[in-house]
Amino acid sequence: MLILISDAFDPSLQGTLAKYGDVTDDKGKLAEADIVLVRSKTKVTKDYIDSAPKLKMVIRGGVGLDNVDADHARKKGIIVYNTADASSIAVAELAFAMMIAMPNRLVEADTSMHAGQWLKKELKRTELCGKTLGVFGMGRIGTEIAKRARAFGMKLLGFDPYVKASEYAEMKTNMKDLLSRSDYISLNIPLTDETRGMINKDTLALCKKGAYIINTGRGACVVEKDVAEALKGGKLAGFATDVWYSDPPDKSPLMDAPNVLMAPHIGASTNENLLRIGVIIDRLIGEYMKK
Ligand code: NAD
Repeated sequence: MLILISDAFDPSLQGTLAKYGDVTDDKGKLAEADIVLVRSKTKVTKDYIDSAPKLKMVIRGGVGLDNVDADHARKKGIIVYNTADASSIAVAELAFAMMIAMPNRLVEADTSMHAGQWLKKELKRTELCGKTLGVFGMGRIGTEIAKRARAFGMKLLGFDPYVKASEYAEMKTNMKDLLSRSDYISLNIPLTDETRGMINKDTLALCKKGAYIINTGRGACVVEKDVAEALKGGKLAGFATDVWYSDPPDKSPLMDAPNVLMAPHIGASTNENLLRIGVIIDRLIGEYMKK
């Protein structure tokens, strides 16, 4: 049994999995691997799968399976798992940190202080309390964000065609109702044919002037050039994103737009989450070995 750890996991994982067989992080050993562990960097394409004749299981440490050709894997009898439950708190806390940072002008405050400026009069802040947060995708992460927003005194709206009711948000069946009433919009949707480009010039036109959007879902759920235009024209007051068309982004129009808060896809990258992912992987491989 050879387990290939193809992306960055907690350093303890290699030792934890040694009880099942050989464990390597040498990507050149793909052809010999029985199990491959990936996060988002390795692209488990058809060609990748076809060049691993012994492969029996792919585990994606994280939620989105858009870097795994799961249909092709299943056709070849390869089991595909993710570790969906592990990352919710890590991603929700990043989304929330971004939502706090923007109206509190934290980046400008820090950058200007480092530049020797004292912008006490210029840096006007606004509060989250009493504002409305619209959550797109009331799944695991959306729900964790909604819980935190409620503790901050925000009003919660949700849009999710597959979730009829939520304990934490008033669910809207029409996207327009959420967009037109939200001061903050959090995107927590997977990338599907339905959600690709969901935030575009038409949907942005429905937003409140001065709204903020936080995207920790998938980069391609927004049309970056339309978001950049909305920021330049003042329709949006801010856009925070952890997710991109590609990792790292290539010539994104967001780089030159004002009031963009950027992160390099670190939503799942907490120490605690990497440990939780390791525990789930250990359990999944342990169950597989017992069969
Ligand atoms: P989840 O499956 O629990 O929740 C996603 C929700 O989106 C579901 O309730 C689903 O019904 C809803 N949805 C699907 N299509 C929709 C649509 N057209 N409109 C509105 N809602 C729709 O998943 P989750 O664990 O909450 O993760 C959500 C997404 O976050 C993942 O798919 C992944 O893309 C992203 N993610 C990002 C990071 C990161 O590092 N930034 C880490 C983990 C997950």
